[in-house]
Amino acid sequence: MYEAVIGLEIHAQLKTDTKLFCDSRNDPDERHPNINICPVCMGHPGTLPVVNKKAVEAVVKVGLALGSTIARFSKFDRKNYFYPDLPKGYQISQYDMPLCEGGTVRVGAKDIGITRVHLEEDTGRLVHSASGASLVDFNRAGVPLMELVTEPDIRTAQEAADFAKKLQMIFQYLDVSDANMEKGQMRCEVNISMRKAGEKFGTKVEIKNLNSFGVVKDAIAYEIKRQTALLEQGKELVQETRGWDEHKKATVSQRMKESAHDYRYFPEPDLPMLKIGTHEGLVKDDTIDVDAIRASLPELPDQKLARFQEEFSLSENDASVLVSQKTFAAFYEHAVSELLQWYADESKKEPEGKEREKLAKLAANYLNTDIRRLINETGTPFTEMLVTPENFAELIFYTYQEKISSTVAKAVLDEMFRTGKDPSNIIDEKGLAGKQDAGELEALARAILAANEKAVADYKKGNQNALQFLFGKLMAETKGKADPKSGRELFIKLLG
Ligand code: ADP
Ligand code: MG
Repeated sequence: MYEAVIGLEIHAQLKTDTKLFCDSRNDPDERHPNINICPVCMGHPGTLPVVNKKAVEAVVKVGLALGSTIARFSKFDRKNYFYPDLPKGYQISQYDMPLCEGGTVRVGAKDIGITRVHLEEDTGRLVHSASGASLVDFNRAGVPLMELVTEPDIRTAQEAADFAKKLQMIFQYLDVSDANMEKGQMRCEVNISMRKAGEKFGTKVEIKNLNSFGVVKDAIAYEIKRQTALLEQGKELVQETRGWDEHKKATVSQRMKESAHDYRYFPEPDLPMLKIGTHEGLVKDDTIDVDAIRASLPELPDQKLARFQEEFSLSENDASVLVSQKTFAAFYEHAVSELLQWYADESKKEPEGKEREKLAKLAANYLNTDIRRLINETGTPFTEMLVTPENFAELIFYTYQEKISSTVAKAVLDEMFRTGKDPSNIIDEKGLAGKQDAGELEALARAILAANEKAVADYKKGNQNALQFLFGKLMAETKGKADPKSGRELFIKLLG
């Protein structure tokens, strides 16, 4: 009877060389604490911030990709509060003049509204040691952080997770953030309330520090139950900030919700107003060139998805697996163009229609199933895999030509993945080329049946494993060259 109303606040660390207001390095992989710091990001008296243009450009890029309105003028504000990870006693953020406002992100068939996207500095990191001491690492203090706030348009835990995944993909495609949640490069906060459908919004609760898509879903599911139970008992909800307790698998109250006036926001006096786009009387160097950023936008995930379905006649499912990672999609495109070239070279004509579709589909299948399986089994990052698009295309072409069976193709791919060798070498070395001749195959199958009377008897008693055993012998004898489907059918025929 109650439905959830959810809005997300998502922070992403920008991938710049230096921090937001100084030239200390922005290196999320730095292991030594307090290396990438300087008087500016440590908040020493007398130092002055200078804005990093690349960070502003990255946020504008995101705004353009989401269809936001880009501000003509924007400014920074001080958000004042005390915490040991905040050296200056205030965070430079943006209050009432964010860089971007409006825009949407499509999730399934629904457009989720974007309220704003702004730029702020990250805080340092507290490290709580086993001895009970708390240490501070300021390497992260002053790193550019983008904050994106959504409208309360989300209704379910799944929708929230799908939105966050989609946004992560967009950040990665735009190359503005690696947005790795495990590394804290992307962080989610959930605002959630319950209401009866059609009624006005209820009191919301904010859940902080959700560091994976799974936790976002779990925390929302938990809050839906908790809030619904309270409302059904006729109780009122308190507006508060809660955290996720991974051991209890529950949200726990952290503090009463603070409001904007608690932070005593005021314009940052040490930074000039940002001028964005073309303005009368200003030299280009003074401004952020929106047209140039728009012109530099890459193809985005939705566009790539539509193009892959159209250009390679792939199903939506196959195409979306390929598009889910930018590097994966690039590998596929490269491999398919090599594959089409193989075809053109061998057949002296361009592949068209059904032939072209078959080639593209075959490559998608081997990539989405077999390569992904190898990656998952070995934990090898895709970008460090030894199989090149060229070698992959060659293997797919041999499969297409039926020069090798699908069983052999999988075995060859395994070896390519382990050693980086090219497929023709592996096939030649092991004598795997060619399919078994039908007559030879039948003779071999009959010989196997004659030598394995027990398995034959078992099969006749209804034991399916016996068939698998006999088939295994056949694959071993032919080194996998027999086509699995016809091999199995052959036994069923001979035994029938
Ligand atoms: P606050 O002033 O408490 O920070 P905002 O209006 O800035 O609240 O909204 C913060 C987030 O909470 C946004 O993502 C917004 O969509 C969401 N939100 C606002 N009102 C509600 C509500 N009643 N229930 C759920 N989410 C809400
Ligand atoms: Mg707010």
